[in-house]
Amino acid sequence: MQRSWVEVSPESHFPIQNLPLGVGRIDAGSPRLVTRIGDQVLDCESLRELGLLGEAFVRPLVDLTSVNRQEARELRHRLSELLDTENSELNRLPDLSTFVCSVDRVEMQLPCRIPAFVDFYSGIHHASNVGRMFRPDMPPLLPNYRYLPVGYNGRASTVVVSGSQINRPSGQFKRADSDVPVFGPTQELDYELEVGFFLAEGNGAGKPISVNDAESHMQGLVLVNDWSARDFQRWEYQPLGPFLAKSFATSASPWVVSLDALEPFRVAGVQEPPPLPHLAGRRPSNFDIELEVALKTPRMSQPETIARSNVKFLYWSFAQQLAHQTSNGTRVEPGELYGSGTISGPDPGSFGSLLEASWRGSRPVVLSETGEKRTFLEDGDEVIFTGYAQGIGYRIGFGELRGQVRA
Ligand code: MN
Repeated sequence: MQRSWVEVSPESHFPIQNLPLGVGRIDAGSPRLVTRIGDQVLDCESLRELGLLGEAFVRPLVDLTSVNRQEARELRHRLSELLDTENSELNRLPDLSTFVCSVDRVEMQLPCRIPAFVDFYSGIHHASNVGRMFRPDMPPLLPNYRYLPVGYNGRASTVVVSGSQINRPSGQFKRADSDVPVFGPTQELDYELEVGFFLAEGNGAGKPISVNDAESHMQGLVLVNDWSARDFQRWEYQPLGPFLAKSFATSASPWVVSLDALEPFRVAGVQEPPPLPHLAGRRPSNFDIELEVALKTPRMSQPETIARSNVKFLYWSFAQQLAHQTSNGTRVEPGELYGSGTISGPDPGSFGSLLEASWRGSRPVVLSETGEKRTFLEDGDEVIFTGYAQGIGYRIGFGELRGQVRA
């Protein structure tokens, strides 16, 4: 197994096999493309300026869209060389501090300006649970669900990076005992456990991206929290889908993990009936990545894990999502973010939203440290997502995605 001269613990999400890309400000300097190994951050732009990346990189590496998919692959390969235990190009230099520093000194930002955010609904257990709760007299899945990845065009302007506080939104909702709505702070604030992919490359207008080519357009994956106001959602979502219930905030983790790093964790999904030919890929396109949700209320001393799920529970893969989105010839651009939809597993301990975990408020989640109960989020609550793929002796992970609710 490849190792680095930078010390990395076996539990770290960031061994030499990962090398994700992100954008950080080191000591409050200007934003630049960085990678992470263990608890160290490596400044790709400084490496480039000093000629250590070779001649392939002529443009400044300022964000994720500074490199296309092929360049990102070459960059990761070169970083892997420089960090390898056998390589001394970097660690023989008198002063490493120009391009390596502790993660504590780096303020991570979103990896790029996000021109568009799309949110799918590809977690079949979540979709089934929501169907049972919101439409109890009908089959849990609508007839289209197993034929296309249901999604909607979301709000890119309110995507924020991990650590950003989430303001409780106001909006219209209708209480069960009333015929008319009121306007006020949401009473049913929730999280949604998702992953998302960043687009590396767009298409020409009118050019669908085929399902077999789709992954070559993706820069990699992040964790996504698609914060939701369930009371607004219930009142507004028919007939055109979610609007203000979702557009007030979406959080993303800062490290973009490449599909190359996740290749060993590729698994086949089960789809019945088989998808139509334009969505039927040649090879497995799901991934076995464990996910966790933890909650910390202001009274708790540390977060408590309240759900464990897995990316493999997605019914539609990332490749199928992108193929579907572009199948009508819509234009897509580098830097776009695509959310998967809430990823719940089959059991209550694996549900990826409080809506499901508390079954619409009917069975509150009890936090063991304080005995506090939650049906939905309260002010001061902090939600923490983590996710990683477990290899033999190493992990490929995302780190954390945190967000705290405030009034
Ligand atoms: Mn969502």
